[in-house]
Amino acid sequence: MFEKHRLCCYCYQYKKWVWLGKRLRDGSKLYVDERNARWAGKRCPDCERKRVRAALKCTSFERELIFDELRRQGFEIVSFTFPLKVRRDEQNFSVGVRYAITKEGKIVLEEDGQTHCSDLYVVMFASARMITKEQVEQIQLQGVSQMAPLEMNLMRV
Ligand SMILES: [Zn+2]
Repeated sequence: MFEKHRLCCYCYQYKKWVWLGKRLRDGSKLYVDERNARWAGKRCPDCERKRVRAALKCTSFERELIFDELRRQGFEIVSFTFPLKVRRDEQNFSVGVRYAITKEGKIVLEEDGQTHCSDLYVVMFASARMITKEQVEQIQLQGVSQMAPLEMNLMRV
């Protein structure tokens, strides 16, 4: 059995990299860690799990919001897949995504069992608001020509 550690290109940690003799359909070797979880190329099993979880959770709508916020903060996005990687002032950072709500003035993070090993986090704040069918239609009509923050304010009824 061939066994060693490999540097994950996403979390920059050395993780166990074991080949049990299995190959993928395309002939490439299938590597696993000590828990038999599979590596996805240069992404360790932990990062791969995070990527899958985040990708399942994040809609393209949310992804755009996340990218906009990172760019607004002056980060260059190095990896657009999860876990995200960004760069600013010659430094690389990993970026996690967390969901939160505000309750009685306090921020409540969604409990999703994730360990916090990213350098930075983008927090997605969710809020629920009731609006009428007419208001939705009105927003949709105006959103087609212009998705400006002004139009979004209409939702704050
Ligand atoms: Zn990793």
